[in-house]
Amino acid sequence: MFRITAILFAYCLSATASAQTIDIEKSEIIDLTHSYNDTTIFWPTSPIKFEHKQLAYGDTPGGYFYSAYSIALPEHGGTHLDAPIHFSREGISAEKIPLKQLITPVFVIDVQAQAKADRDFRLSLADVKAFEAKHGVIPQGASVLLRTGWSEHWPDTKAYMGDDTWGDASKLSFPSFGAEATSYLVKTRKIALIGIDTASIDYGKSTEFKVHRIVGAANIPALENLTNLAPLPATGAILIALPTKIEGGSGGPARVVALVPKK
Ligand SMILES: [Zn+2]
Repeated sequence: MFRITAILFAYCLSATASAQTIDIEKSEIIDLTHSYNDTTIFWPTSPIKFEHKQLAYGDTPGGYFYSAYSIALPEHGGTHLDAPIHFSREGISAEKIPLKQLITPVFVIDVQAQAKADRDFRLSLADVKAFEAKHGVIPQGASVLLRTGWSEHWPDTKAYMGDDTWGDASKLSFPSFGAEATSYLVKTRKIALIGIDTASIDYGKSTEFKVHRIVGAANIPALENLTNLAPLPATGAILIALPTKIEGGSGGPARVVALVPKK
């Protein structure tokens, strides 16, 4: 019989925060990732969506089963990571992102009520300060996820993006981070990573992509199109976000999970 023993690992934050220890056996492992398939939502100006082509499937002359597929997709669709170089010429590319920025304590700001009332909602500095007043200061090296509730719309492109006209990104509408709040998280709190359960860390109506530019300039990666944020507490979970290691990549598909302490 094979027995899995508890794996303990201590996650040490910077000097500004206390160490956090996670016991795998006492944690729920939550998948925050959409599957890739024919309905995966991509930015409307993408040249292709997810292509999964069968190369082989079935019994071989050797008497064993064999299947294999090829994949093709733009880097920015489905649950994926934006590397800093996505919106910053000097930013690092996907393979160079330090793993320490991808395995972090995570803080989850819930703005579902505001997003429901206004689908063009943007997280404000006051919202972040209200979160910190309730849950404590977001420590250096942590990640911040924004829970808008938008993943409930997936894969309904019109509901999720605000418009489903392929080739046209001018009529999008969905909630996201605001520039002032992001500057505060990046420059004052020095977070490691941000992420959201919508298609972009800039709101749908954005034309300047200020949030992408702020995090890119600070070499902070971002996660987009997350799902299943409901089981995550505001504080106390660990985020593990591992993108495909594409050399020179501006981002790419990521498997994202959270470790949530069992109650
Ligand atoms: Zn992206």
